[in-house]
Amino acid sequence: MEQGTQQHPDIEKVLLTEQEMRGIVEKLGEQISKDYAGKNPLIVAVLRGAFVFTADLMRTITTECEVDFMAISSYGDSVKSSGVVRIIKDLDTKIEDRDVIIAEDILDTGLTLSYLIKNLEARHPASISIAACLVKDVKGKHSAIKPKYVGAYVPDAFVVGYGLDYAEKYRNLSYVGILKPEVYS
Ligand code: 5GP
Ligand code: MG
Ligand code: MG
Repeated sequence: MEQGTQQHPDIEKVLLTEQEMRGIVEKLGEQISKDYAGKNPLIVAVLRGAFVFTADLMRTITTECEVDFMAISSYGDSVKSSGVVRIIKDLDTKIEDRDVIIAEDILDTGLTLSYLIKNLEARHPASISIAACLVKDVKGKHSAIKPKYVGAYVPDAFVVGYGLDYAEKYRNLSYVGILKPEVYS
């Protein structure tokens, strides 16, 4: 087995295999290609977690699109959202009158996205939509944020892989899995 594909000893349970992720992302790409046909959306990848998702998603989009990157930090090395969001790297692209698609790795409390949306709206884009690779399935938890595109819902556990880290590790796993709690507790 290739590295990143076999189950890492720190993973309690694989939630979405590499193959499942491929199917999930392909579906999103199809939807986005339909919805944005004839437009030229700017995909804003939220670093670092969304870089794997964005790279795969872009290659399933069959219409014109561009990509830029924003780095924000909300968790540090902890597994709980601090509510403090910092822009570490801003966009290089002007988004005024552009259709923007925010590509986010995972939506948990919604704090990060609320902040980001407010920040980007102040730049007067033509539209903003959200493509969340994963959404934590917690009823009402992030009701203020409605992603137009959702890859998959995951349980309320700390997940890693497919770009998602714990203390910068596990991003290279090709699947999404639940991290063993003893790794961070
Ligand atoms: P939120 O602000 O919605 O609570 O979470 C924002 C960010 O925290 C996500 O974009 C992601 O980077 C990180 N995050 C939230 N839940 C998880 C998780 O289960 N695993 C990992 N690795 N990161 C998470
Ligand atoms: Mg993120
Ligand atoms: Mg992280």
